[in-house]
Amino acid sequence: MAKAIYNNIQDEIEALKRERKAVIVAHNYQVGEIQDAADFLGDSLNLARWARETDAEVILFCGVHFMAETASILCPDKKVLVPDPEAGCSLADMIRPEDVRRWKLEHLNGVVVAYVNTTAAVKAESDYCCTSANAEQVVRAIPEDKEVLFIPDFYLGSYVKEQTGRKNLHLWRGYCPSHVLIQSADIRRLRTEHPQAEFLMHPECGCLTKSMHLADRILSTEGMTRYVKESPAQEFIVATETGILHRMKKENPQKRFYPASEHAICHYMKMNTLEKVVESLENLQYEVKVPKELAERALLPIERMLAIR
Ligand code: SF4
Repeated sequence: MAKAIYNNIQDEIEALKRERKAVIVAHNYQVGEIQDAADFLGDSLNLARWARETDAEVILFCGVHFMAETASILCPDKKVLVPDPEAGCSLADMIRPEDVRRWKLEHLNGVVVAYVNTTAAVKAESDYCCTSANAEQVVRAIPEDKEVLFIPDFYLGSYVKEQTGRKNLHLWRGYCPSHVLIQSADIRRLRTEHPQAEFLMHPECGCLTKSMHLADRILSTEGMTRYVKESPAQEFIVATETGILHRMKKENPQKRFYPASEHAICHYMKMNTLEKVVESLENLQYEVKVPKELAERALLPIERMLAIR
């Protein structure tokens, strides 16, 4: 059969979505064109919830690999695809399941709280998952007499430790290479250049402890996108991966946004392109499937994360 001719790649994607009974979910750090093509756009927590609720047969997950794994664990009967199987996460790669097992042996009373930016194999060794949106609530839900082993993001963990005042919270020393590029010197300069701007900071930022006193709000990406809509402020300095600015500008065309660092770009997130989205929907590639036994073990901490808002 002759291949249909489309006016543009967006039309082609829409037709393929209908044909494949597919939805596209995209993370806030994706390139703008993918954000525009997405049915659901959000942070890891909301994307996981949406993936579970959709009745589509195919979920094309435009983000990084661990996010698609989470969707696959939550929706074992659906086909979860990624546009590029090489799009991983440096932070997730900073801890392995054997590291978690060894750490637990050193803290037999310990409860492992895994940031959602971890592989399914690491989640399977954990007690709770969390995102930057609910990490504090998750830790507060754990009885005070239990030690908390927080993996893998040191900065998010430090923030939660400070907020909860929890002395028995131990930190893994992982970090996100994109967020450590955000420097407090840049933030101070931007605050001077834009004195009316509110400053929003993501807790993965490497300069969090140095700069948090300058922040108007410390928020997850989803919290940021909500906040900029509601705030009467007209200008914002945004300390997280720069992809989020596309959504902020689109949803608030009258407001102005300045990235805390132009260099805070996740090259894994940017590996997905519209052309790869087309190939993925056309060929139903690349499927992410977590082995059943592993998925069952990883599901429990994910369910606990979803239960705590
Ligand atoms: Fe991982 Fe950082 Fe990229 Fe997020 S921005 S996917 S934490 S490397």
